[in-house]
Amino acid sequence: MDCIFCKIIKGEIPSEKVYEDDDMIMIKDIAPQAKLHFLAIPKKHFADVTEMTEEDVSLVGRMLKTIGGLSKKLGLEGGFRLVSNKGADAMQSVPHLHIHVLGGEKMSDKMC
Ligand code: AMP
Repeated sequence: MDCIFCKIIKGEIPSEKVYEDDDMIMIKDIAPQAKLHFLAIPKKHFADVTEMTEEDVSLVGRMLKTIGGLSKKLGLEGGFRLVSNKGADAMQSVPHLHIHVLGGEKMSDKMC
């Protein structure tokens, strides 16, 4: 499958990985939009939240808990923002579900 995140997960494309377990990887975003910008990416390929199966509900739940558990270690003790884009209006550019984890600085109260 020609998916950049699947290739990163398989190690075929280099990335700055900060965490990995059986469910997911976390990498530094190549074009950070905050002082700290990570991507939490499930190892299972599905495009976005609209493609989630019942099984994926617990997978994504575990991912959220893992992000929370890692937050201090990643320098996000002041807080962080989670974003998952879906589709053209949201400017999703990689059709493999991922959660942006943004922080390390005070962000705007505007979401967009
Ligand atoms: P989205 O636009 O929501 O689909 O987010 C995709 C994100 O993936 C963007 O923030 C990109 O900067 C990021 N990205 C694309 N390619 C890479 C890569 N090779 N390594 C790390 N981040 C990437």
